[in-house]
Amino acid sequence: LSEIDKNLIQNSIRDVKDFPKEGVVFKDITTLLNNKEALQTLINHLEDRYKSYDLDYICGIDSRGFIFGSILADRLNVGFVPVRKKGKLPSTTVCEKYELEYGYDEVEIHLDAFPKKNPRVLLIDDLIATGGTAAAAAKLIKNVDANLIEACFILNLTFLNGVKKVKEHTPVYSVLDI
Ligand code: AMP
Repeated sequence: LSEIDKNLIQNSIRDVKDFPKEGVVFKDITTLLNNKEALQTLINHLEDRYKSYDLDYICGIDSRGFIFGSILADRLNVGFVPVRKKGKLPSTTVCEKYELEYGYDEVEIHLDAFPKKNPRVLLIDDLIATGGTAAAAAKLIKNVDANLIEACFILNLTFLNGVKKVKEHTPVYSVLDI
């Protein structure tokens, strides 16, 4: 990815201060999604990177990982699988608890999410902060007997060191480190 393309993508992401609470700078990717040059540049780059990975599924994290994951799955001609926040998936699930700043949250995947045996799976989300969500999603993918090939993020908030946590489970790739 050239510096020009990196800047195009990075500049299309909007900072919203104090959302959802005071002190947080929220990285708003809606302004990337509505910018066709930035979106196409990003998806072309991801397609280029992953077309040789021989993937069977893209697994996206609730909810912005669904958007990038679905577009990429279509480009790569593979299936898409959602990892969701607790209580959203209708059939039998496997569940993984993870720690938040205050308290816990849980993510789930369908027990039969991957119809193919021993599938090669890419995990994707818009952003990695502490890495708690992605680490839990990585455990879920392994718990349903899939091969997690890599975890991919558009944005990595490097000061929170989340990559270290996720790297215990899978290689990590981030498009933009900020
Ligand atoms: P974490 O588990 O701490 O790595 O948080 C990652 C999840 O929370 C991802 O699904 C992100 O979309 C979301 N998230 C965390 N921090 C931010 C932020 N500053 N801006 C936008 N989304 C965030």
